[in-house]
Amino acid sequence: MAGTGIFTDILDGDVYKYYSDGEWKTSSSGKSVAIINPATRKTQYKVQACTQEEVNKVMEMAKSAQKSWAKTPLWKRAELLHKAAAILKDNKAPIAESLVKEIAKPAKDSVTEVVRSGDLISYCAEEGVRILGEGKFLLSDSFPGNERTKYCLTSKIPLGVVLAIPPFNYPVNLAVSKIAPALIAGNSLVLKPPTQGAVSCLHMVHCFHLAGFPKGLISCITGKGSEIGDFLTMHPAVNCISFTGGDTGISISKKAGMIPLQMELGGKDACIVLEDADLDLVASNIIKGGFSYSGQRCTAVKVVLVMESVANELVEKVKAKVAKLTVGPPEENCDITAVVSESSANFIEGLVMDAKDKGATFCQEYKRQGNLIWPLLLDNVKPDMRIAWEEPFGPVLPVLRINSVEEGINHCNASNFGLQGCVFTKDINKAMLISDAMETGTVQINSAPARGPDHFPFQGLKDSGIGSQGVTNSISLMTKVKTTVINLPTPSYSMG
Ligand code: NAP
Repeated sequence: MAGTGIFTDILDGDVYKYYSDGEWKTSSSGKSVAIINPATRKTQYKVQACTQEEVNKVMEMAKSAQKSWAKTPLWKRAELLHKAAAILKDNKAPIAESLVKEIAKPAKDSVTEVVRSGDLISYCAEEGVRILGEGKFLLSDSFPGNERTKYCLTSKIPLGVVLAIPPFNYPVNLAVSKIAPALIAGNSLVLKPPTQGAVSCLHMVHCFHLAGFPKGLISCITGKGSEIGDFLTMHPAVNCISFTGGDTGISISKKAGMIPLQMELGGKDACIVLEDADLDLVASNIIKGGFSYSGQRCTAVKVVLVMESVANELVEKVKAKVAKLTVGPPEENCDITAVVSESSANFIEGLVMDAKDKGATFCQEYKRQGNLIWPLLLDNVKPDMRIAWEEPFGPVLPVLRINSVEEGINHCNASNFGLQGCVFTKDINKAMLISDAMETGTVQINSAPARGPDHFPFQGLKDSGIGSQGVTNSISLMTKVKTTVINLPTPSYSMG
């Protein structure tokens, strides 16, 4: 059970502690932040509301711990990461339980998230050992006007303190996707978990604590992003910010100083369906892509752009599958569970009502109970409807009927987002042309958009992000190239 067994140290009464200087602590603020269970709408957990002084202390410790961590051999850093991954996987049950309670993720998917996170940490350790163990050797005489008098050696060095801010929907996985590359590269790490998802993150951090990382190298500051977020992101000790979330990322980017940013933000992933597509395959991918975790995924299919000639058939197939989705508690592994908060449910309802007022066809009756919204397919959506452009982050999927491929590509490219997209056709040549024309970070051919496998590059264009994720890219982003040049008195090939 969460907060028990090896996790008892992280709890003080009914409030979870924060992690600083290798210890679990209670904030001097005397205040806590409530985490509301999305399904019951009652307070499930409480976490510390950390103060600015506590942030300052954590940053100071992170700076000094990083200095000796950078001198720790790469293989030793990797060894500790492997240890943390094993502890995390061994303790998947209580962590998954907190995911179920604080973000209403179905129980099975919650376990998968923890196991996937352990695998990601191990992969990162292995990849880090390989790519950080290599450098470049350059000779000066390849550039005009130079003799071979300079040997240039390059290697990758850490940036310093990395600030990691993940979102609620994959709090553990998206936290470790920042923590592991930062640590293997020799950085220290300050984590600000999402409020919904904070308790799962605190359990995960305890696994790193038990693995025996040096004091102060990893810290976890809890509190509302709206209250301590600016202080953290504008802190002078921070050398890199890795953020995943919504529009908040855009304002952080504008305020952050001259430091590398890794921003993975929202998306409006389009699914373009051509006349020759395998419609059964499309329908199952629309269900998986649009309704998994109730549509609360950055890479969820968020708009279907289907050729008019096959639209009726596709909509019927999807409707039949929607009817089979189970709706209810995450503990029972229902397909559709409560969305994360009441404000999120209200936002989704706003999009649905706008589409209703403007004449969209409802394939199911709209139904909501508290934060639980029944899956809904909206057909005949038109570009003047908000849902054609905005990210519902809920189990509501719009279908726009198109008369040409160009119309689909234009709709996709007119979005301010550019995360992923997908195209369904049996013609690989057409698929490649469409992929090249779509202004998104990734295009999936004949499958729904997806962030994994976690070592694939993952990036968004336009308002969907800055930089690229995926194990190798994250390690590179969290390092800087350092060169040492050996200057010779005479060209090196002048003897003999
Ligand atoms: P969010 O509201 O932007 O929050 C993300 C994180 O930012 C949370 O930890 C939040 O903390 C924190 N935060 C809030 N205000 C802040 C501030 N002023 N300064 C610093 N941090 C602050 O996003 P969300 O609702 O958790 O997640 C949903 C969004 O994430 C969607 O738009 C989705 O598309 C996007 N997403 C993108 C990807 C991707 O890889 N592209 C992956 C997953 C999700 P609190 O919880 O305490 O407010």
